[in-house]
Parts: sequence; C-alpha cells; structure tokens
Amino acid sequence: MIGSLYVHVPLCLRMCDYCDFYSLPSSHPLRAEIVPLLLSELRLRQESLERREAIEAKASIAWDTVYVGGGTPSVLSPEEIYELARGIGPLAPDGEWTVEANPEDLSPDWIDALASGGVNRLSLGIQSLTDRLLKAVGRRGSRETALRGLDLARARWKGRLSLDLIAGLPGQTEEDLARDIAEALSFGPDHVSLYALTVEKGTPLAGRFRTDEESSARLWLAGRDALEEAGLRQYEVSNFARPGSESRHNLVYWRMGSWLAVGPSASGTEVSQDHARRYRNACDLERWAIDPVGSAETEDVSRLELVEETMMMGFRLRDGISRNRFRARFGTDILNLIGPAASRWADRGLLVADEGAVALTADGLALLNLFLADCMECLWENEHR
Ligand code: SF4
Repeated sequence: MIGSLYVHVPLCLRMCDYCDFYSLPSSHPLRAEIVPLLLSELRLRQESLERREAIEAKASIAWDTVYVGGGTPSVLSPEEIYELARGIGPLAPDGEWTVEANPEDLSPDWIDALASGGVNRLSLGIQSLTDRLLKAVGRRGSRETALRGLDLARARWKGRLSLDLIAGLPGQTEEDLARDIAEALSFGPDHVSLYALTVEKGTPLAGRFRTDEESSARLWLAGRDALEEAGLRQYEVSNFARPGSESRHNLVYWRMGSWLAVGPSASGTEVSQDHARRYRNACDLERWAIDPVGSAETEDVSRLELVEETMMMGFRLRDGISRNRFRARFGTDILNLIGPAASRWADRGLLVADEGAVALTADGLALLNLFLADCMECLWENEHR
C-alpha cells in the first residue's frame, strides 16, 4: 500500500542563482497543460500499481501524505491549484497535505483555493527577510513582499505553517540570521527548515561565490540554537518543529518508506521488504509530457543498497533508526552491521544506542557525513568477510 505522493510542479517565474532543481520559466508553451499532465501521470501510475497489486503494492485510496513542491507551485493560478488538489484527493482523515509557495505569490484567492482543495499545510520559501541577502542570490521577492505574504498567511490560512530559511547566504552575519529567525518566528510557524546554503555546480552563484564551510557551519549552529531556544526541536539535520508538527511526508523519505511521485524529474520508490524499485522521471518537460511513464528511468535497489540508504536517511533524524523497524525489514539487528562504528561514536559521546533505536546526539548530527563514512566501511567489511 503506497500512501504518500510527491508532485513536482516544474515552473518558476525566475531561477534563483544557487538552484539546480529541474524547473522552467512559467512562460513555457506547455504551461497551461501542466496540471492535466500531472493528473494524467498520477492516474497512469495508480493503474499500474493496481495491476501489480497482488504481488507488489497498491496505490492508496486516501493519501496519508501529499507534498506538492517544485519549482514553484504558487505560480499556478487559484483555479489550477484547486483543480490539481481535487484531482489528487482525497486525503485520509488524519493525513498531511503540504503545498510549497513563495510568499510574494500569495493572494486571498490562492489561500482559499488550497483550503477548499483539502490542503492542510503550507510551506513558505522565505529564505531571508533581508533585502541585501535576497538580492545576493537572485531571489525574486523582497522583504516587503515576504512580509506581506506572511501577514496574509497569518490572517487567512488556518492550517499548519512551515517556513524555509537559509544560513550562509553571501555576506550574511550572525545578526542577520538571528533577526530573520526572530522575525519569522513572530508569525507563529509550527515548523521551520533551516538549510545551509548549497551552491550547486554550474549555477550563476557558483561563478561568483564560494561557501566558507567553517563560518557557514558556525552561522547554522547559531541558528539551530535560536530555533531550539524558541521551542522548535531539531528532529532532522535541517528541520525543526513544535512537538507533533514534524513533517510526516518527509519522515516517509527519512524512514525509507514508499511513495509515488509525478512530474518531470520526480522520483518515486516502492519498497518491498528488503529491496526496492525506484523510478526517476525524465528531466525534460517535452519528453515527460509525451510519455511520462515510458520516459522514466527505473532501477532495482538491492538489499545492500537499501541498507545503505536506510542509514544515510535514518541517521539524519534525531530519533535515529528504530531497531525493530530495521530488524523487521532486514532480518538482523542494525548493530550486527555497524557495531564497531556505533561503539566508537558512542565512546565519544556522539551516539546513543538503546533497546529502541540507534541515534546520533545533536553534536554527532553535526558530523553526520563522517559517521556515515564509518558505517559504510563497517558494511563493506561485513560484506567482504
Ligand atoms: S524558486 Fe525554488 S525551485 Fe525555483 S529557482 Fe528558486 S529555489 Fe529553485
């Protein structure tokens, strides 16, 4: 049973200077057909799953989680976002349905369309509330338009609210970030994502700015502390939430669950016990539009690959990896595979392993990549023993 769905809306009004997501200008000739195309791929994928239902998985009748991202879903009109929502639904009674938006795009009609379409979580890409920093990375909006969007969301949006912020923007100081965080929190979000700026190769920003890893990490840690002091717990490397407001959809990824995905460049995964099948849609709007399923690449994920991915995703969480869940999937205790690495990190006070889970501490999480390299070495030694 697959209860989660990701929808990629591949349109942006203007590309930000650091981003390499697959997205096209919203003036693209296929622009008006995006919503019907997304819904038609969804039907195809659901039918294909239902045909294989007896041996594999079944598409959900009501979704547990839906995430509409991009790109910029808020470049769709209120009518289009409503049509998309109606075509996707229904959501299970306790389900979570997120739509991403840029604050400068919000209008009363757009917010109303989300609510009447069944969406219950809005994720706003604020990134910063400082004009100088927004300009430095080519963001389309400004402090003024972001504040207007936030005011509107506070007045009209009744669902859950998540805000995205970035640490490590060119020229950003600790005071800048502290001010951005304090101001963002004054709008009462139950969830904040604080990302360290990643400048992707080949993007305009990569040609003129190089991240200083050390000062960026210092800045991010100061941001983490400010969010935690405000009562938002870090539950994943870059994500903070009030208790009970963690992103259920993203937890499906971090716990290596199954999800369907539609839209160009979107990738879905069907996990069956200890292996998985994955597809990635063409990063090409025209090819995808002609044959969304046929133009996708598919791969089988072996048991060992799934173990590796389970660790790479699961150790991002403060709660770490559930030992029972791991045992149920892979038929062995996780410590049988990474025992030496876990002991070394526990001895340094960076990891806790108890009956229920194996998890990095807050300090351990800041060294996640080093820990994962240690785990991978253990796995490799296990395989070649
Ligand atoms: S709006 Fe989002 S998806 Fe579009 S270019 Fe900017 S960061 Fe990338």
